[in-house]
Amino acid sequence: MNATLSLPPLALYVHLPWCVRKCPYCDFNSHALKGDLPAEAYIAALLDDLEQDLPLTWGRPVSSIFFGGGTPSLFSAADVDQLLSGIRARVALSPACEITLEANPGTIEHDRFAAYRDAGINRVSLGVQSFDDDLLKAIGRIHGRAEVERAIGSLHDAGLENFNIDLMYALPGQSREQADADVRRAIAARPAHVSHYQLTLEPNTAFAAAPPPGIADDETAWDMQGDAAERLTGAGFAQYEVSAWARDDARCRNNLNYWAFGDYLGIGAGAHAKLTDPANDRVLRLAKSRHPKRYMAGERVAEEKAISPDECVFEFFLNGLRLRDGFRREAFEARTGLPWQRVESRVTDAVGRGLLEPSEGGYRPSDLGWRFVNDLQAIFLPGSD
Ligand code: SF4
Repeated sequence: MNATLSLPPLALYVHLPWCVRKCPYCDFNSHALKGDLPAEAYIAALLDDLEQDLPLTWGRPVSSIFFGGGTPSLFSAADVDQLLSGIRARVALSPACEITLEANPGTIEHDRFAAYRDAGINRVSLGVQSFDDDLLKAIGRIHGRAEVERAIGSLHDAGLENFNIDLMYALPGQSREQADADVRRAIAARPAHVSHYQLTLEPNTAFAAAPPPGIADDETAWDMQGDAAERLTGAGFAQYEVSAWARDDARCRNNLNYWAFGDYLGIGAGAHAKLTDPANDRVLRLAKSRHPKRYMAGERVAEEKAISPDECVFEFFLNGLRLRDGFRREAFEARTGLPWQRVESRVTDAVGRGLLEPSEGGYRPSDLGWRFVNDLQAIFLPGSD
């Protein structure tokens, strides 16, 4: 590396790995809960994990915290309060730190969001996926429309207006009209943010082993996405990432930091971290032990390694090319420590193929590049220059 690495913002990801049961399309590190939630032991392990990582980030304030899973809302507000107090005692949070909790509508009883808000949560990401009971059943969700409506009402009652609705499309048997109806209902719920994802069959999932009938083909899925774009734009949302839409600039700061190749600590079973180490001219990747039992027994770091320059290039573009605003040349050099010349010919190639276009101080995906973002990202794969 021979450009100068500089320290980007630092986020904290906290993985809470249990779910009521495993959804058939899910490839996250999530585990069906058998018996009682071991909240006490897991929180102790998380705080110990954070402490062990601290020497890698001394003195750096945390700009966002994300409780992801799994189903973090299986943890009570008192658990989240205890965890956040423990985090605050160990790291400085920047003023206006964004603190997001992922919540499953099937696990929320009345007043729960008000209690999470009192514990310090200021953003919620609600895993709605669809408002249609039959479609929710088809993808194995534990909730129905009634729970979704209750959870949305409870968010508004708690004054937690900065919330995201996760929606999936191209569900088994879903028509274009049903996909559109889901987006319209989501908009009517007045979220600040919508994440709109296509159902994909990920390896090692129940759906990959036995695909359900009636999943939309690529053309229909593209039409569904186009319909959603029209609805969301009309309702005042702006798309800032392939799947992410925000109103009034309520973009998810935590995810923006990932996509901009920022730094993050990751605590919890299977969590990943990415940390810049300018003193040693390297970028580190850490992976924590995936299995909750082993993690709680003290097996924390499963892997720690410096990311090679080729991997740095690919990861920078894999993330940055998901953003509507693309990336800046200086950010490439500051975040990877590599000179711009290392990727210049590939960027020129992408511009020549109409996939990238110049923007202020850098480049962003063209409309064509946006549609074929996988092809665009592949240009930056290791060994592709
Ligand atoms: S609730 Fe979310 S994390 Fe849990 S199994 Fe379903 S998709 Fe995966």
